[in-house]
Amino acid sequence: MFSEKNAFQESFKKRLEQSYSISFNDSTRAQQFVTLSQMVREHISKEWIETNERYRQGKKQTYYLSIEFLLGRLLGQNLINLGLYETLETWLRDIGIPLEELENVEPDAGLGNGGLGRLAACFLDSLASLGLPGHGFGIRYKHGLFEQKMVDGFQMELPENWLRYGYVWEVRKSDLAVEVPFWGSVDVVERKEGIKFRHVDAEYVKAVPYDIPVIGYGGETVNTLRLWTAETSSFTLNQDVLKYKKETEAISEFLYPDDSNDDGKILRLKQQYFLVSASIRSILRQHLNNGGKLQNLHERVAIHINDTHPVLAIPELMRVLLDDYQMSWEDAWHVTENTFAYTNHTTLSEALERWPIRIFRPLLPRIFMIVEEINERFCKSLWEQYPGEWERIEKMAIVAKDEVRMAHLAIAGSHSVNGVAWLHTEILKNREMNDFYQFSPQKFNNKTNGITHRRWLLKANPELTALLTDTIGDGFKKDASELSKLAPFAEDSAFLEKLWNVKLKRKEILAKRIFEQNGIKVDPTSIFDVQVKRLHAYKRQLLNVLHILSLYNKLKKEPSFHMPPRTFIFGAKASPGYFYAKRIIKLIHSVADLVNNDPDTKGIITVVFMENYRVSLAEDIIPAADISEQISTASKEASGTGNMKFMMNGAVTMGTLDGANVEILEQTGPDDIFIFGLKAEEVMAYERDGGYRSMDYYHHDSLIRRTLDQLVNGKLDDEGLFDVIYDSLLAENDQYFVLKDFEAYRIAQEEAGRIYEQDPERWRKMMVKNISGSGIFSSDRTIKEYANEIWNI
Ligand SMILES: *Cc1c(COP(=O)(O)O)cnc(C)c1O
Repeated sequence: MFSEKNAFQESFKKRLEQSYSISFNDSTRAQQFVTLSQMVREHISKEWIETNERYRQGKKQTYYLSIEFLLGRLLGQNLINLGLYETLETWLRDIGIPLEELENVEPDAGLGNGGLGRLAACFLDSLASLGLPGHGFGIRYKHGLFEQKMVDGFQMELPENWLRYGYVWEVRKSDLAVEVPFWGSVDVVERKEGIKFRHVDAEYVKAVPYDIPVIGYGGETVNTLRLWTAETSSFTLNQDVLKYKKETEAISEFLYPDDSNDDGKILRLKQQYFLVSASIRSILRQHLNNGGKLQNLHERVAIHINDTHPVLAIPELMRVLLDDYQMSWEDAWHVTENTFAYTNHTTLSEALERWPIRIFRPLLPRIFMIVEEINERFCKSLWEQYPGEWERIEKMAIVAKDEVRMAHLAIAGSHSVNGVAWLHTEILKNREMNDFYQFSPQKFNNKTNGITHRRWLLKANPELTALLTDTIGDGFKKDASELSKLAPFAEDSAFLEKLWNVKLKRKEILAKRIFEQNGIKVDPTSIFDVQVKRLHAYKRQLLNVLHILSLYNKLKKEPSFHMPPRTFIFGAKASPGYFYAKRIIKLIHSVADLVNNDPDTKGIITVVFMENYRVSLAEDIIPAADISEQISTASKEASGTGNMKFMMNGAVTMGTLDGANVEILEQTGPDDIFIFGLKAEEVMAYERDGGYRSMDYYHHDSLIRRTLDQLVNGKLDDEGLFDVIYDSLLAENDQYFVLKDFEAYRIAQEEAGRIYEQDPERWRKMMVKNISGSGIFSSDRTIKEYANEIWNI
């Protein structure tokens, strides 16, 4: 199909005309996009079938369960992985079609919030590219993460609609649908062989799978991402059909429905059980079809739980083994514990999932019984280890205080528990999960996150990819560790010049986009200082924006103050119910209005907020960045992966010693990164012992004082919009240490500006050092570690 130019062009046109009954010349980009994508899908169907055949021979499989998959667009990535991108770009250009425009027609599959969902997507790419048998299971939300629209600096949320025109990459597998039971009760029957449990009077929901091919680099392995849709089941005869239909379809309607009330909580728990029940059924069916036995499930199947959302897979597998296959508890537990592995993604205690029993038990009566039994046996084993230590046991229990603690269930039911960066894992072991670490140290391990360099370098930055290929050959495309070959070129001034021009080119492209979207003219030769990520207090966009405001103040007040021109670029969605985060977005806009329109600072500071941050926008922004803002309060960011994407594209990190920044520092060395601020132990010591008073920093630092006063004195708005931010910093003692780190941040930023302006050669060497040290952050490295050390595939 793609082997010969004329044949390709002919068949492309013919298909287009046949599918749409339209002449080629009248066809739209959208129609051309669909046609090309369908051709790609057919092209890989043979490899997809063959991959499945190979797996049927009993090789151990890994299944990655995740409530989020932040895939972004697939066409361009698939063409790159198939080695067809450049060829098709030329062949299409010949017939008047810019491939890039077709790519831009594709909606982002935004079935996730941020890092956690993007990690799952990067992992799928690496699994397939390494030829490993690893598949994803998720939910096919009708609406992914909301679309952000800015109105007067306020975030508005519109329902996202990626399925509006159908989704070309998926295949519906109606024949593989399964039934998922909710509500009802448990029937206890005494038999000769013992007591049997049956879930009766349940309301059923049909889970229908849609499969998306995951095409590995080189095109030999095509794994599967299976997403489930909830549909009404003919098993359920319901009085109120419309209500049943509505409640059923709601399960796969929205990613993270509002759970501030009980109905919302029930819906989320339904989503979780829906995902795992359907997935476990599907996994077991394949295992048994391939000749596997239930007793050896763990030898042929590894199931990974991405954060706690899919943790009910543990009691669900127990339920199937016990109730459907009459296995003994001990045997079932042995199989289950050795099948599951769990990744923790956060140490923020408010983010640790807990379900009230009053919601859990009625919705999932049999699962609740099993969770109770797991809890009882777990507590008994704790008692044997720690006789008499009631307090410790109560703290570690899975069910306690009228709640089910999902993280505890995950740890108890898995043979491996991992954090996502060295520091994060240390904090888990020594603090957050210390009790569990003491009890079963062998379970705990670290797997530092990664990103697929095929999307974040080859796809996102073809200009840099071409330069790297000219310089060190194309081995890095397959094996990102070969990026280290670039290190000696830090001394090659001709190379530095070319690298600089690539960066400038990318900045020009972004500047054009900014002008189109925001109507703001930015200077591509200014420093592009970028913070793009979810909006959260711990990520401290506030520190960044207050620093900008303070620079503005200095420019206005001190005629001798000089700084090199900077363009500050933000992108961030705030979770719809997160009022404080939304106010920070508004603040960024208000500061932008102030500084962008003041003739005294025009051209020196420019602030840009790009709306609707998502994967495809990230791919445009990151290659253009000079400075990568990774300034979370130390100990709060588990890993970060944005930091890795920036590094790989030659941006220099401005960061705290948090998450994977610690490991980025190991790669660059201290001279090629800007590290500032409190360390994790210091933050944790203040949190434990007190001793920080933000008010002191207000009183003793006039720059801070002047800047904070502007939040409330009518300079930025006259409606008290920012009182809540001002209060969080002063009245509430600045939980995230923004003021404490302010001066250190200011100095680090000044240093960055000075080097950029006065020692451009030094800056360019820093860029090289970052790119050449970034290979270790390819998710191929991460996945190899999971495969060898956890999954045994
Ligand atoms: C990588 C990525 C993230 C994660 O960014 P962090 O800086 O690690 O929080 C979030 N959203 C999108 C769209 C991404 O591509």
